[in-house]
Amino acid sequence: MNTRDTASLKCGLLGRRLGHSFSPEIHGMLAGYRYDLYEREPEELPSFLRESGLRGLNVTIPYKKDIIPFLNDLSPEAEQIGAVNTVVFDDDGMHGYNTDAYGFEKLLLSSGCDISGKKVLILGSGGASAAVRYVLLKHQADSVVISRTGENNYSNLSLHYDAEMIVNTTPVGMFPDLDGSPVCLAPFRSLKAVIDLIYNPLNTSLILDARELGIAALNGMTMLVYQAKRAAELFLGSSIDDAEAGRIISSITESKSNLIVPGDISGPDILELCSRTGRKAVDLTEGIPTLKELTELSGRPGSLFIADGNVMRDRQIKRMLMHNGMIVSPENAHGML
Ligand code: NAP
Repeated sequence: MNTRDTASLKCGLLGRRLGHSFSPEIHGMLAGYRYDLYEREPEELPSFLRESGLRGLNVTIPYKKDIIPFLNDLSPEAEQIGAVNTVVFDDDGMHGYNTDAYGFEKLLLSSGCDISGKKVLILGSGGASAAVRYVLLKHQADSVVISRTGENNYSNLSLHYDAEMIVNTTPVGMFPDLDGSPVCLAPFRSLKAVIDLIYNPLNTSLILDARELGIAALNGMTMLVYQAKRAAELFLGSSIDDAEAGRIISSITESKSNLIVPGDISGPDILELCSRTGRKAVDLTEGIPTLKELTELSGRPGSLFIADGNVMRDRQIKRMLMHNGMIVSPENAHGML
């Protein structure tokens, strides 16, 4: 497909509430088509699908299952998973795919963990959980779904303290619920890795807990970008290099981060850093805002926190800053000037 054809394509994301979606930004970096957000109520689905004039559609909460009856066919993966997050429209109708599985497999492989024969807990039993379960099965893991209402639930978690990996597919810990965490990790004595599908904030409380215990932890940004890459390939009918996805992961992670710089950087250098990175300075060495204000600031990107050892030794403040914080060393801060 040439550039002009791509520019004339209309694609987008369907969901009920899409306020904080990163998808337009990611698809904008992946390809040159138009990508819009479509917030629709359940009763609007039939007319929306009939009249949209779209080439491609991503689907999110709560429509990943509801959309299936409207589609002409499903890919074998979508069929097996029972959820669709990507629809391609052509002359033969509407075709459903699941690219969450592809995205999660890329994330899993990036962890470097060999999960074959290992016990993996999947927290939550919704659409993303089904895609995760499909990939874990493909990699021969012994996966157990923990559901609030299932046989394996949060009141009998002790049966599974031998798990070697935990994958969070619940929304617990997602912005603005920064303090929320679905489980306490301390009793999991064999735990080697935690994967949280959440990408906003970049570091959930679960991820911060894991790192404090010396356990490797990854967020859902790699999955998000790779599921979008695979969807874009289906919309365009051509492949996109993995290196492009890697560049987008770095760029979007940087743009969604707050920078944390040490206290010994000079005033003019701070001003210059703020102007170069488009961030607003918050000098924590001069006083700490209330926890509510700090939660607000750290939950959203756009700040450059100035923090010395005293500030960072306070565990509660450090954790709050680290939800979206990227520590910049003095050398790197000077390198950015
Ligand atoms: P979903 O279909 O609504 O499923 C979420 C599941 O989490 C529910 O089925 C429920 O399972 C559990 N849950 C919901 N509220 C909970 C609570 N308060 N406490 C404990 N468990 C709760 O949503 P989804 O599409 O699977 O998405 C889930 C999360 O994954 C979201 O945060 C989403 O942003 C993220 N996600 C990320 C990517 C990515 O690319 N990184 C892709 C897809 C989804 P039980 O009722 O069985 O407990």
